[in-house]
Amino acid sequence: MSPTATMFAAAGALEQKLTELVSNESMDWKFYVQVFTWSVCLFESYLLLRQFPLYSKTEPPAVLKDHFKDDTFKKSQEYGRDKATFSLYSGLLKQALDSALLHYGVYAWSWDIAGSIGSTIGYGPEHEIIQSLLFAAVLFFVSSIPGIPLSAYQTFVLEEKHGFNKTSLGLFVTDTLKGWLVGFALGGPFLAAFLKIFQWAGDSFVPFLMAFFLAFQILMVLIYPTVIQPLFNKLTPLAEGELRKRTESLASKLHFPLKHLYEIDGSKRSSHSNAYFFGLPWSKHIVIFDTLIKQSKAEEVEAVLAHELGHWYYMHPTKLLVVSQVHIFSILALFPAFIHAPMFLRAFDFSAEVAARTPVIPSFILFQMILMPMEAIIGMGMNAISRRFEFEADQFACELQHKLKSEDMNDMGERLGKALITLHVENLSTVWVDWLYSAYHHSHPTLTERLKALEGYRQGDKKST
Ligand SMILES: [Zn+2]
Repeated sequence: MSPTATMFAAAGALEQKLTELVSNESMDWKFYVQVFTWSVCLFESYLLLRQFPLYSKTEPPAVLKDHFKDDTFKKSQEYGRDKATFSLYSGLLKQALDSALLHYGVYAWSWDIAGSIGSTIGYGPEHEIIQSLLFAAVLFFVSSIPGIPLSAYQTFVLEEKHGFNKTSLGLFVTDTLKGWLVGFALGGPFLAAFLKIFQWAGDSFVPFLMAFFLAFQILMVLIYPTVIQPLFNKLTPLAEGELRKRTESLASKLHFPLKHLYEIDGSKRSSHSNAYFFGLPWSKHIVIFDTLIKQSKAEEVEAVLAHELGHWYYMHPTKLLVVSQVHIFSILALFPAFIHAPMFLRAFDFSAEVAARTPVIPSFILFQMILMPMEAIIGMGMNAISRRFEFEADQFACELQHKLKSEDMNDMGERLGKALITLHVENLSTVWVDWLYSAYHHSHPTLTERLKALEGYRQGDKKST
């Protein structure tokens, strides 16, 4: 047999094995999902507990000592502890709730409710797409309404206490409603198209769904900043002045196809701040938070933008898109085994009649819960990649002076360092971070790691010149 034939045979055998496993009547899938989701939740709680002793430290790390006033450091420690306490309790509460939904067969119940609503409006069970849309809506309300008080507590108690909340009650309500509307407006057609492809392509759905997901992601990149973000924030062209001049000059030197330069009113909701770019390969837009502009000098914001343009230069967003496509592919490739096994849905209290038809959406949602432990590990891998990219972008900013042969950029590393410190201080970000907690949760290296690396790039520079 040729190597390719061997590979296909192996993949076929694997799928066969998986199908047998899923159809096995003695597999208690509900129990496994409970075990899997609780293990992930308890692991996350354990990570938070590892963080707690660090909030009792009375001094920042040595590199940051000069930048934190005693008072600010104390505040950042208190903020960190409050956030961690909130995460611990809300995480356990959410998991208890999800666990109850599973235990009491709420997924099967929601499917039946969706079925009766469908029948009432003239669409019987043969209209799987309609029933799935209704199912998604029922499940959405059942599972997300209990989260509203938590989110309100976070905004109006936790963030308020530490002086970050700028959201009024009215804004909170309209934001929540707008979020739902956007969710339905995008999620509905997405789900319908997803199912249509399934029905049309049959068992060879994987490549078609992949193409569909890719198209959807690209569409989101295009419409998110222009259609969705403006529903929540206001983007205004950045005013003439030093910052605009610096940004435009930097962009043109790097041949970055800058089309529009915006300031965003991030401060309407919160004082946390940042900058980002978006757009098509030939027409890009840069968005800077008004808070960043207020907190840092123009030359420091320029260094932050140099870092962002580093992401563009190394094509980091495209690389991440490729990684996420591979990820989606592996998930989809495992799914067929679950769609051909009525026993799988039976394990979650679906009636024999419903399970025999194996509706796609409920199967897919439950199938993803089985993957949760694996997804947690993959998430850490993705974070590792993203951190590497952050270091690369920092180095890019630091070494711009050589790339552009521009003397006045030889302090870019220092400026970036200053901006990062200001961001951290103003946001009261936690500076003492447990390594395992960070590996699991953070897509960015910690401030201390970045400052150390920046120092290294500058040292390297001095040696080479
Ligand atoms: Zn970055």
